[in-house]
Amino acid sequence: MPPGQDLPVNHSKASVAVLGAGLSGLAAAQSLRGMGYCVEVYEKNSYAGGHAFSHRAGGFTFDEGPHISFTKMPEIQELFARAVNGQYFEVDARVTNYWRGHWVLHPAQTNLFGLPTDVVERCLVDFVKCRYGEPKEIRNYADWCLEGLGRSFSEDFTFQYTRKYWTTEPSNMTVDWVGPRMHRPSLEEVIHGALAPQTEKHHYITRFRYPDSGGFGSYVQAVADGQALNLDHEVMLVDLRKGSLEFANGTSASFDRLVSSLPLPELIARIKDVPASVAEAAAKLTCTSLVLVNIGIDRDCGFPDAHWMYCYDEDNILSRISFPHHLSPANAPAGQGAIQAEVYHSKYRPLATGDVLACAIEDLQKIGLLHKSDNILLAMEQRMPYANVLFDVDRKANLDIVHGYLAEKGVFCCGRYGEWAYYWSDDSVVSGFRAAKLLNERIQASPRKVTRQ
Ligand SMILES: Cc1cc2nc3c(=O)[nH]c(=O)nc-3n(C[C@H](O)[C@H](O)[C@H](O)COP(=O)(O)OP(=O)(O)OC[C@H]3O[C@@H](n4cnc5c(N)ncnc54)[C@H](O)[C@@H]3O)c2cc1C
Repeated sequence: MPPGQDLPVNHSKASVAVLGAGLSGLAAAQSLRGMGYCVEVYEKNSYAGGHAFSHRAGGFTFDEGPHISFTKMPEIQELFARAVNGQYFEVDARVTNYWRGHWVLHPAQTNLFGLPTDVVERCLVDFVKCRYGEPKEIRNYADWCLEGLGRSFSEDFTFQYTRKYWTTEPSNMTVDWVGPRMHRPSLEEVIHGALAPQTEKHHYITRFRYPDSGGFGSYVQAVADGQALNLDHEVMLVDLRKGSLEFANGTSASFDRLVSSLPLPELIARIKDVPASVAEAAAKLTCTSLVLVNIGIDRDCGFPDAHWMYCYDEDNILSRISFPHHLSPANAPAGQGAIQAEVYHSKYRPLATGDVLACAIEDLQKIGLLHKSDNILLAMEQRMPYANVLFDVDRKANLDIVHGYLAEKGVFCCGRYGEWAYYWSDDSVVSGFRAAKLLNERIQASPRKVTRQ
């Protein structure tokens, strides 16, 4: 159909291209198919699932970073449960921390017990000062930490971890992502935790579900079933005027409506004739990149009693470390264990080493998680250019420009990287459903005249 010509009045004939077969793209596609649209999903990988996929190697299963389902949304709980035929574990989260040679219960701010006396004293005194001093304006995440946790704890713990995990200074971050993710303790909690070990949990994830087998990726089935999937289709060019797509494999396709879950900087870079101001804004959106280090070893004991842990020390490149066989024994062969360590980088903090794998192994040994005598059965790294959307101070202004342009062109964005938000798997699924609903509403609102963009 030539550009600008009306689409058929019967919307079930409108064809929708969905870019990206992660949870959000698949959810959008599933929902649109249910409404009667002709939907094609285009995915660059040779598999569906995006970040929710689980990789297998040497009998081990590794998710793309530790993935657990802690959704409170009943509809997503049901959807995921159905995908694995009810075969999942539901357990209390076990989390721990490593700080300068000490193992600290989680969260560290309410578990100072056992740390050197001078550290505990400084943290307590500063906590009292911040709580009972003049309230200060919260301009950024650094202010939030100083006001909520006190200067000593912030500088010795949170700021160090922030530079590793978020790859930037806390003062370069806003606070709109924090929500329940960081516990802001009361004075009583801090004092109790300084005097004796605490059993009360303050992590925002207390209980979670994880499939019995196949890793987190087994949940992807919830939205992947029955889809028209075009795998190995990396979108290279999007022509919004003509309604056409070109792929790296040399093929092309047309569409009447477009839903995209691609990372916004990638999408914008592929759209034909994008205004320079929009291209500039998209290029300034920042995401952390992740090098995952996946290790399989010939023992299943001698690990911390935790599903995952945080390493605060800045002289150690690892930020979060998890133990996949603790999530499900099926993630490792019998008698063997697995470690997954995360090393983050971005334009703000480039990788400190050219050999991440070797450095990670050395740092795991420093903490005592790996021993020189260990028989390492598998050691590999996986690079993820898009990990966590960075809520740096420029994010909102640039995002408004990019989303404004895409909305004007009738492109429906969804998912963690389409909405450019701190979305968990449940949010991403819901975001896909939402994009489908919006698209349908738009078409229903003008059923007689639906034109190509
Ligand atoms: C390290 C880490 C840990 C996480 N842990 C948890 C957790 O414990 N619990 C939880 O609920 N959530 C977790 N999440 C979040 C969860 O992974 C995401 O919310 C969800 O998987 C995002 O789905 P999506 O569809 O929005 O994006 P994606 O999964 O990124 O999907 C986008 C898809 O687009 C494809 N694509 C990209 N470019 C192109 C192109 N040019 N052409 C065609 N296709 C393309 C990609 O290959 C991908 O498949 C975690 C995320 C990360 C990074």
